[in-house]
Amino acid sequence: QIFINNEWRNSVSGKTFPTINPCTEEKICDIQEGDKADVDIAVKAAQEAFKLGSPWRTMDASQRGVLLNKLADLISRDRHILASLETLDNGKPYNVSYNVDLELVIRCYRYYAGFSDKIHGKVIPADGNQHAYTRHEPVGVCGQIIPWNFPLLMQAWKLGPALSTGNVVVMKPAEQTPLTALYVASLIKEAGFPPGVVNMIPGYGPTAGAAISEHMDVDKVAFTGSTEVGHLIMQAAGKSNLKRISLELGGKSPNIIFEDADLDYAVEMAHFGLFFNMGQCCCAGSRVFVQESIYDEFVKKSVARAKKRTVGSPFESGVEQGPQVDSEQFHKIQELIQSGKDEGAELLCGGERYGTKGYYIQPTVFANVKDHMRIATEEIFGPVQQIMKFKTMEEVIERANNTTYGLAAAVFTKDLNTAITVSNSIRAGTIWVNTFNSFTSMTPFGGYKMSGQGRELGEYGLANYTEVKCVKNLPNLYIIPWV
Ligand code: NAD
Repeated sequence: QIFINNEWRNSVSGKTFPTINPCTEEKICDIQEGDKADVDIAVKAAQEAFKLGSPWRTMDASQRGVLLNKLADLISRDRHILASLETLDNGKPYNVSYNVDLELVIRCYRYYAGFSDKIHGKVIPADGNQHAYTRHEPVGVCGQIIPWNFPLLMQAWKLGPALSTGNVVVMKPAEQTPLTALYVASLIKEAGFPPGVVNMIPGYGPTAGAAISEHMDVDKVAFTGSTEVGHLIMQAAGKSNLKRISLELGGKSPNIIFEDADLDYAVEMAHFGLFFNMGQCCCAGSRVFVQESIYDEFVKKSVARAKKRTVGSPFESGVEQGPQVDSEQFHKIQELIQSGKDEGAELLCGGERYGTKGYYIQPTVFANVKDHMRIATEEIFGPVQQIMKFKTMEEVIERANNTTYGLAAAVFTKDLNTAITVSNSIRAGTIWVNTFNSFTSMTPFGGYKMSGQGRELGEYGLANYTEVKCVKNLPNLYIIPWV
């Protein structure tokens, strides 16, 4: 059901939509389908919760931290249930849901709980004699639209900073994976957040999502998903009330392997950097550039590693790869694999559907990939690795930057100068040196260019959720010098 004002309700339209198990292609259950009418009710509830004098606005800042920590406690208590639901709805291995996603989720809520009573401005002696101070106030009603690849984690990245800074939220989970977001809504109520502070509207993007981004009473939208929809969100904000926006969008991240890198380690990290989460990561290292002297060896070892990857039911222990999230992604990936073959890339393993049921795709490796090919320019969001050859550092920096994206990059080398030069030269929000997919709540994440606007996580992430107000006072005894 839809969650508004700490209560469960049916959609105004009475419509529902199914959520599908990607392993079996069968329906798990029907979900109430929210759209504009439900968003309107949720926004009103959020505005009410945000009124001056409301329990949320008068709550001691430290108490917001207590509530966020309580939420983290409840998520820890129900960790196995949430991990199971995440795997059921999304298809990621249970082991990953439990040990990676849930671990990062719990840490994220605790991290932002700690900030709740540490949000403050500055005192500024303006022009020497004015008394001025800044207040970092909550933005207000925040619309948050999240994707299906890390449903619980993207929810935490959005709710943690928004609630820590005293905002109210209308959230839309992805239509492919609404189950865990709704479960967390029940924990938000149990933790003791006042009614209306968090509202959860499951539904589709062009209806419920668009209603949020176009809404005149939504003060800010935070979005994670495709660059294409990022455009729509910006347009909607521009056409409505110029609401604040923060966007986490797509990527085509370069992973650069120099000849002095530890080869076996680099092969394993490049494999992890691409195949983790079935390749469904915005920061996936989907352009692996390898220096020519180690290229053949690197390709051989990468293919051997991909062939060893265990694919199967995500509930079975030892399985590294489950199905893709839905039929649309499954077909999109196959179409891109076909384009790679048609454009002359060398398919060295995989390339087909895995099994006969579920949205499984074989771990796939392409070598001799050229920069202009679609598999080297478009986000595949699947278990498909592209390996390219380079000669010099100058050349690879230029090719790595030759993309409209700028989310992340990695460099593997033992040479400090190479590592620093490449790190400083790549236009991307995150650079990993001799590692990949390293995430903590403490460090910012976000994109240059068409990979996004603003940064999430870390102290930087708080800026998305506060307005800076300047209060100025000119003491009477001073004469204004220019009057
Ligand atoms: P999407 O961008 O369509 O969906 C993400 C979220 O936006 C969902 O909640 C969706 O309902 C919502 N949405 C869709 N249309 C909307 C609209 N007009 N207004 C407001 N909200 C809207 O992503 P997708 O279709 O699920 O996946 C397509 C591609 O996006 C993937 O293949 C991948 O390349 C990329 N993607 C990126 C990320 C990421 O983390 N950066 C996550 C998911 C998907």
